[in-house]
Amino acid sequence: MKTKHALAFLCAGACLIMSACTPECSESSLFAMDTYMTFKAYGENSTEALSQVTAEIQRLEKLFSVTDPNSDIGRINSSLGPSDVSSETAALIARSLEINKETNGAFDITLYPVSKEWGFTTGSYHVPDSETINELMKQTGSDKVTVSENIVTVSDGAQADLGGIAKGYAGQKAAEILKENGVTSALLSLGGNIQAIGSKPDGTAWSVGIKDPENTSQLAAAVSVCDKAVVTSGTYERFFEENGTAYCHIIDTKTGCPVQSDLLSATVIGYDGTLCDALSTAFIVMGQQKAEEYLNIHTDIDAVLITTDHRIFVTNGIFGDFSLIENSYSIIPLSTLHISH
Ligand code: AMP
Ligand code: MG
Repeated sequence: MKTKHALAFLCAGACLIMSACTPECSESSLFAMDTYMTFKAYGENSTEALSQVTAEIQRLEKLFSVTDPNSDIGRINSSLGPSDVSSETAALIARSLEINKETNGAFDITLYPVSKEWGFTTGSYHVPDSETINELMKQTGSDKVTVSENIVTVSDGAQADLGGIAKGYAGQKAAEILKENGVTSALLSLGGNIQAIGSKPDGTAWSVGIKDPENTSQLAAAVSVCDKAVVTSGTYERFFEENGTAYCHIIDTKTGCPVQSDLLSATVIGYDGTLCDALSTAFIVMGQQKAEEYLNIHTDIDAVLITTDHRIFVTNGIFGDFSLIENSYSIIPLSTLHISH
């Protein structure tokens, strides 16, 4: 139990529950994409594979960083028109625009002017007046971004921020590198994004902890997975308080304000880590009911949703691999429509 709690402390939302490293195992860590990352891989090529993973994540950070004026995103955001970017940045922006449509606007990479004003990314946290927010909201909207091959064009002062999706993409790319190197057993933690490669060396599933949003040094639950991403977004992850109100880093696309959600955390589990990352952010904005509606239609995605009134909604696809750790929550299986045939 002690180990679980210590590790839970290291990561943002979902956590690795790891055992001791055997001789054929490599571990590494780095700080990138504004988060502390830890990697563990098994097999003879694991050391070399993990050094490639580190290089890959640093390469992606150079493309996607919103605070680096020389990154692809930095160049898009300082341009008033078209920018020639890498095919990867263009593809990830195009994917983000699709997910914006699929989530009825809840996931929106163009909220950067607003989240910057609230102090997220700059550290100058404050509550802006409503006039300022309304003015800045005129610069937002995914319809102000177009992608054509490697050219990304923004209009009306729109700026992009891939903070809600980039770590999921990076985890997926890292998994590809490990597999190319013959690694069949690895677990990567990119903050709240966990990417499992294969199973544990003994063939059993990886156990990934989900933090208790009300006591983040403890786990609320755990899920067993092989080869999947387990991505958690939570209102507790990054926030500031002013006059007794907490303001979190996830912005409500309707109001331009930090979201007031009935979800404390949303964990999304699936094979597409990029989508899982975007959806976990979107579900916080959508709230429990809209997230449930989405999950009833998209049955290839699993989720664990923790509500402010102490309920944990679990999709049927992951129900058998879910275990409750913190008994003060009541488990609600998500709609019978979600049964796979
Ligand atoms: P995550 O931790 O994956 O939930 O992502 C949160 C980050 O995504 C924030 O720090 C912002 O960079 C960005 N973000 C905030 N609100 C939204 C939103 N509604 N849609 C997409 N990205 C957002
Ligand atoms: Mg996300």
